Amino acid sequence: MIKQKPTVVIGAGHNGLVAAAYLARAGQAVLVLEAGAHVGGAAATHEFFKGFRVSSVSHLTSLLDPVVHNDLSLARHGLVFAKTHVKSVALAVDQEALVFEGAQLLAGTLSELDRAAFAPFVKRMQRFASVLGRQHGRVPPRLQWDRLIDAWPAARFGLDVRRLGREDMREFLRVITMAIQDVLDEEFSSDHLKGALAMDAVLGTKLGPRSGNTVFSYLHRHSGQGHLGVALPQGGMGAVSQSLAAAARDAGAEIRLNSKVTSLEVSAGAVAAVLLESGERVEASTVLSSLDPKTTLLALLGARHLDTELAQRVHHFRSIGTAAKVHIALSGLPQFRGVQPEHVGERLLICPSAEYADEAFNAAKYQRYSEQPLMELSVPTVYDATLAPPGQHVLSAIVQYAPYDLKGGWEQARAPFEALVMQVLERYAPGIGKLVLATELLTPVDLERQFGMTGGHWHHGELSMDQALMLRPVHGIAQYQMPVQGLFLCGAGAHPGGGVMGSAGRNAAAVVLKRPS
Ligand SMILES: Cc1cc2nc3c(=O)[nH]c(=O)nc-3n(C[C@H](O)[C@H](O)[C@H](O)COP(=O)(O)OP(=O)(O)OC[C@H]3O[C@@H](n4cnc5c(N)ncnc54)[C@H](O)[C@@H]3O)c2cc1C
Repeated sequence: MIKQKPTVVIGAGHNGLVAAAYLARAGQAVLVLEAGAHVGGAAATHEFFKGFRVSSVSHLTSLLDPVVHNDLSLARHGLVFAKTHVKSVALAVDQEALVFEGAQLLAGTLSELDRAAFAPFVKRMQRFASVLGRQHGRVPPRLQWDRLIDAWPAARFGLDVRRLGREDMREFLRVITMAIQDVLDEEFSSDHLKGALAMDAVLGTKLGPRSGNTVFSYLHRHSGQGHLGVALPQGGMGAVSQSLAAAARDAGAEIRLNSKVTSLEVSAGAVAAVLLESGERVEASTVLSSLDPKTTLLALLGARHLDTELAQRVHHFRSIGTAAKVHIALSGLPQFRGVQPEHVGERLLICPSAEYADEAFNAAKYQRYSEQPLMELSVPTVYDATLAPPGQHVLSAIVQYAPYDLKGGWEQARAPFEALVMQVLERYAPGIGKLVLATELLTPVDLERQFGMTGGHWHHGELSMDQALMLRPVHGIAQYQMPVQGLFLCGAGAHPGGGVMGSAGRNAAAVVLKRPS
């Protein structure tokens, strides 16, 4: 039990746990307050049907910060990967699936020209993505420089771009704000390939392949600096959070579950305490919130503590989620059209063309769900027998576009939406319906309710150029320090954004530790 006034971390999502672990390792008394009954937030595993467990929200890692992984000794704290370098398999109903991993094209039918263009394209994008990746572990530059030294972070970013070399630098600057479809049209003719690549640009966003900024979101998705590629943690994503919680506890942090924070108390412009739903008041002069920026600043702190312009900017932070989760307990392994049996456990993509994705996005623009949704499927039980009874399987599907702000609401739309998902799956995996033992649907509204993420948004708020880097979550508060002294943001709504990375938690902890005492 902590005796001295603790540093409080609100939320035991993976970023909150990372921040807690770093602060505790630096000798601070850390208290993590988590609303839910378990740690992990959107990086968790739960049982959705007797004997069947699944990654509750996020289901594959590709961005986990290798520095966090090493610093916090996650392997020693129990993190094991059931599979690394998971391949992407672009499904098709009438032809062989395209299979690729990084710049390697492993199977599928493509023209000679597309085949030749694939590796150079992916490698170029990887070079561009690594420019973003290098920013993950840094505090974003300030737009206003009071001292020359304040210009250094911006200059360093400029140097990273310059280091690409003249040709790549020009191309980086040309494409970074473009729509992914325009770039793909310049490179390839295959709809099948363009659909698969476009999917990486739009997953988790309220953007379509013809929207500006989707090259940026594609690069974010590929900006992981680790060597595991896309990976499946053994025991689901909850295993990542369990290892982080173990690291935090090991360093001395206390994690309290079922402890919902309802507001922050401010005195003389500085944080003084956090107030819990239970009525408890915890005195604290340093508070890190891993909740999204709107919840942190408008609900917990209150707009009265922000100047009017800043409150407006936070209010306008775009955070309408478009991705739902569907979990299916299966009595056997499904077979997918055009997929070799050894590829069923890989990352299966349903997005047969960029046009398909664009039409699917149209529905979301007008607050409807798409009749032809995009899906990212994982059957983790192919590699991880801990998630289901022997011989049986779990299918985890991210289904997009399923907008948070659905016209008419989600309650009456649940059954038809689930039926639609099954119909689409049946097209790609004939007979799958006969294997279904149970299903679970989590719409963005459910995600908001269960995990407290405004809009059920993947990144706690859209990740596009106007809400990224020194503009994340909004300009003026992009360096983790919030406008009230002692309050910091450490979740996906801060730089570098969402995905199970841990970088926001690590950077925020570093800012806290660097404060003059
Ligand atoms: C459908 C979907 C699929 C995704 N798939 C992937 C994927 O495959 N791979 C990937 O890398 N990323 C994926 N993501 C993104 C990723 O899950 C998130 O960006 C990331 O988990 C956010 O982590 P966080 O720690 O910043 O916040 P969160 O995980 O949101 O954690 C916040 C924590 O705060 C707690 N909390 C909320 N309110 C309160 C309160 N008032 N008091 C106390 N505690 C509170 C919550 O319970 C939660 O534990 C996906 C997201 C979605 C929506």
